[in-house]
Amino acid sequence: MAMEHRGVWVFIEQSDGVIEEVSLELLGAGRKLADKLEVPLAGVLLGYEVEALCTTVFEYGADEVYMIDHPVLKDYRTESYMKGVMQLSETYKPEIFLYGATPNGKDLASAVATDLNTGLTADTTMLDADVENRLLEASRPAFGGNIMATILCKNHRPQMATVRPKVMQALKPQPGRTGRLVKEDIELYEEDMRTKILQIVKETSKKAALQDAHIIVAGGKGMGDEKNFQLIHQLAEVLGGSVGGTRDVVEAGWLPHEQQVGQTGETVTPKLYFAIGISGAIQHVVGMKNSEMIIAINKDPNAPIFDVATYSIVGDAMEIVPMLIEGFRSA
Ligand code: FAD
Repeated sequence: MAMEHRGVWVFIEQSDGVIEEVSLELLGAGRKLADKLEVPLAGVLLGYEVEALCTTVFEYGADEVYMIDHPVLKDYRTESYMKGVMQLSETYKPEIFLYGATPNGKDLASAVATDLNTGLTADTTMLDADVENRLLEASRPAFGGNIMATILCKNHRPQMATVRPKVMQALKPQPGRTGRLVKEDIELYEEDMRTKILQIVKETSKKAALQDAHIIVAGGKGMGDEKNFQLIHQLAEVLGGSVGGTRDVVEAGWLPHEQQVGQTGETVTPKLYFAIGISGAIQHVVGMKNSEMIIAINKDPNAPIFDVATYSIVGDAMEIVPMLIEGFRSA
């Protein structure tokens, strides 16, 4: 089985000719797996008039690109994309197939895994390979984030996983790096499609702002109430950052869910993350621990958040945050 299926594949998600960050991150993770297993790394690119994107896919580490370029694939639809990916998978038989855990990536991966009768590990945050047994080791938080579970797909191929955005690292692109382009033809007809796209409305939510923010000021239940939580907004404003929070804060109605950081919220990697009045539960920490610098403010010197903090400030947020706001304002 292992010999029949060969290669690490990454689904290259694009819209309007722009590749999603997560696909570049997955090429970085896929490169390591492919080197370890001594197989080629391939990008799978579907769309319309997307050939120019192959250059980027090669520059970010792929050895091969399997491309289907067709007008019916202009915008993502489960039906047409699944048909394309199924055709490629059945013809070229990858050993491992990775997708970004985005709405489209999750939708496509689950549909493809069902039709290929194989396993899918959803929302993974760590990837490795057992070379001897040719197994993908896909790990993700489980049991409410209390353990990391490593999930194996022993008897079916390809081994599939969706991977959270922002947890893997893209490689530095190598300009001029190139590889083998396989152009695949497909029979697709617009009139056969059961879904028609009438309009695409772009998201302009704070969620996108949170993921792209260089500075995030996040507050927790330790802020006491919604009125005090305004201090978090004020600090974010003087620093030009975005506001995030814990699930408890979202459940209290102080912030919308799109601004929740953590296992059931967003994964963020800003340059600077303030964690204020946040205890540091594992479910929160998995969403922010890869931030470049973490400054934690908590009145409990034993709060777990200090284990991941770059700088720890033990004290009352109600006293410290107004001083920070004042200090940065006059700086
Ligand atoms: P608390 O744990 O109550 O911590 C408040 C902290 O504030 C304490 O450390 C306290 O010492 C400090 N404090 C109090 N007063 C002050 C003061 N005046 N000054 C300074 N510090 C003060 N949580 C998330 O955040 N994101 C998720 O995505 C998420 N997903 C979850 C998924 C599951 C399946 C489960 C079971 C839980 C999930 N949680 C998530 C909840 C998580 O377990 C914690 O309950 C939550 O993160 C705690 O939020 P908190 O730190 O705001 O509150």
